[in-house]
Amino acid sequence: MGVRLASLLSVALPQRMSKEQILRVAVAAPLRQALDYLPPLGAAVTACPGLRVIVPLGARRVVGIVLDVVAASDLAPERLKRAIGFPDTAPVIPADILDLCLFAARYYHATPGEAVLNTLPAGLRSLPRSRIRAILQWRVTPASEALPASALKRSPRLAAAMAFLREQGPASEALCRLAGIGAAQLRSLESRGLAMSEPCVAATEPPPEAETASVKEHIPSRAQAAALVTLESHLGSFHCSLLEGVTGSGKTEVYLRLIEQALAAGRQALVLVPEIGLTPQTRQRFVQRFGARVGVLHSGLGDRERETTWNEAASGRLRVLIGTRSALFTPLPELGVIVVDEEHDGSFKQQEGFRYSARDLAVYRARRLGIPIVLGSATPSTESLANCRAGRFVHLELPQRAGKARAPSTRLLDIRGQTLDGGMCAEMIDAIGHQLGAGNQVLVFLNRRGWAPLLSCSDCGWMADCHHCDARLTLHKAADLLWCHHCDARIPAPTSCPGCHSARLLALGAGTERTEHTLQRQFPAFPVHRIDRGTMQGALAMDKLYGEIGTGEPCILVGTQMLAKGHHFPCVTLAAIIDLDGGLFSPDYRAAERTGQLLVQVGGRAGRAERPGEVLIQTLHPQHPWMERLLSGGYRAFIDPILAERETWGLPPFGHLAILRVESPRERSAIEVLADVKAHLRRRFTELDIVGPVPAQMARRAGRYRMQLLLRDARRAPLHAALEAACQLLDAHRFGAHERWQVDVDPLEGA
Ligand code: ADP
Ligand code: ZN
Ligand code: ZN
Repeated sequence: MGVRLASLLSVALPQRMSKEQILRVAVAAPLRQALDYLPPLGAAVTACPGLRVIVPLGARRVVGIVLDVVAASDLAPERLKRAIGFPDTAPVIPADILDLCLFAARYYHATPGEAVLNTLPAGLRSLPRSRIRAILQWRVTPASEALPASALKRSPRLAAAMAFLREQGPASEALCRLAGIGAAQLRSLESRGLAMSEPCVAATEPPPEAETASVKEHIPSRAQAAALVTLESHLGSFHCSLLEGVTGSGKTEVYLRLIEQALAAGRQALVLVPEIGLTPQTRQRFVQRFGARVGVLHSGLGDRERETTWNEAASGRLRVLIGTRSALFTPLPELGVIVVDEEHDGSFKQQEGFRYSARDLAVYRARRLGIPIVLGSATPSTESLANCRAGRFVHLELPQRAGKARAPSTRLLDIRGQTLDGGMCAEMIDAIGHQLGAGNQVLVFLNRRGWAPLLSCSDCGWMADCHHCDARLTLHKAADLLWCHHCDARIPAPTSCPGCHSARLLALGAGTERTEHTLQRQFPAFPVHRIDRGTMQGALAMDKLYGEIGTGEPCILVGTQMLAKGHHFPCVTLAAIIDLDGGLFSPDYRAAERTGQLLVQVGGRAGRAERPGEVLIQTLHPQHPWMERLLSGGYRAFIDPILAERETWGLPPFGHLAILRVESPRERSAIEVLADVKAHLRRRFTELDIVGPVPAQMARRAGRYRMQLLLRDARRAPLHAALEAACQLLDAHRFGAHERWQVDVDPLEGA
């Protein structure tokens, strides 16, 4: 574990000694092992872990990261390739981040290249050719001094290039070009060990004066004060706390004060938030408190901005960094506290490629650094609650809303047998009208984009299915498209049935687009803002909308779960939940937890200031036990029986799960590969519980059949050993061009 330093290894007895040290390099390729290279010729920089290095990989040149510097390689010296150069003079990845990445690679069974390079801003991960030219300068190597004058007689162009470099000293590629020396000659000299390139070093800026902003501060409530006493006592050592505070209880205020303490002690702070939709407001609150010392990282930024913020955090100029999942990997040399807000949120788990949980890795980072971490939520995950019970986390609670706000009242609307307009029953529409009339704002939630989730022919029963997935196409009326939300396939919306040519096509059900339309028709005097992935592209759109909502004028916000996450809309008094029933009957064992969290979070947007809030939930299943528990006893009454059930079945957080998934255009080959893996694991890991091969929840997506094995064990170690073995088998298997496989450790979906 950890980064092994070259000095520690010099005592090892290698089989093949080479005079030169060997660089062990992670590259962005699907290789489980790091690659060995000889160091660049005559490099002025001393190689060390975390340093970027440009290396040949097949016919390409790529950026890699030095993981280690060792005395010997398992490869024969003549098979070792030589690295081309170091673009920087110092490591871009400090030792603690490298350690975090390598731990993540082991834990999630990712390749070191994926884990290490994915964490860098794009600009540092790849060096486009023009960029290499721009930053490199060329000079002759010490070895070329010994070159006899006649050596390059047969290639006069190379001889001329050598002469120029000798005379000129270090020269940029542009200067060489002016002298008639092309890149081909330079590379040719490089390959003969006669010339080398090195980076032109850029100067770093001095940090500007820190600004302090003056904002009115609240007097902490008794619960806030109590939580702060505990949290402040943790500064300087590792403790993980769960701050469970009902929506609007002032968790953010607690984070701000804790961070203030950390900054006063000369430390930096890292705040992870779920999604971009949330950052404008959170950012504002932090900027108001801490001024220009705050930086923000999220997926909506361009590569340049991202790289700048990353550099400023790494240099220590920024004292507070707020960001989504990947911000976890930002170097912060003086990090003193980590906050993970809305810790239950699924977006902390990356669902593609390198499948890591930023929340869980944040706990690892805090532990290694010996600093406190706070996980905050109104609806804590089952994992964090179980960790509190086991005494691993400190449980802190804010049971009441802050200031004058009170908990909203919640009521179910039974829609069985009712006619719906834009997905809403008459009573719901009346309630919305009533609130608008009283000068209030209303939030309407439904977790479905587009106009309607189903287009069907009323004469022959045809339904618009995706040809590539086991899924229906969603009708998007404004774009006039049928759109698959799973593989992104889009086709023009038909005007007549492709089966029987009837014109009687029916759009069934409602998505945000249709509900928005209905609300506009019902309430023409009030603005309706739609908030979903279709309308909210980037932080700017959200910023602008916040401005409008902030005026407090009555209006309607209609949207998907983007609306549910941590927003503070003080003038919203009604949260209208149109459709949550889908979650009640999902086969996923986590569906209950997710649905309950979503319901409480959406409801929590109502009545966050002086005016009392109301939550109305439409349902076809008013007697469903989850609904009853949530309404009568709140989140705890809801989640406690779920935890008990998980314990009975040995499901997470009481057991450990992983998924091995194979996707293939041929269902049979996916099944066969997994059956082989299963047979192998069965022999070696007799205790391990293996289910499958079974179809994934969506058995076909984007033209590929998706089969999976579910692996479960009460203990982590045997599960990881089995995954290691399975990954070796899958690595060795020859997959077809359109086939792929994945491993998902601690999966949030699909189990
Ligand atoms: P949470 O993060 O728990 O949802 P917030 O921190 O957003 O809650 O707080 C909700 C509202 O209550 C905000 O407007 C905040 O300014 C206000 N608030 C927080 N703490 C206090 C307090 N001690 N007294 C009065 N108002 C407070
Ligand atoms: Zn038809
Ligand atoms: Zn599709």
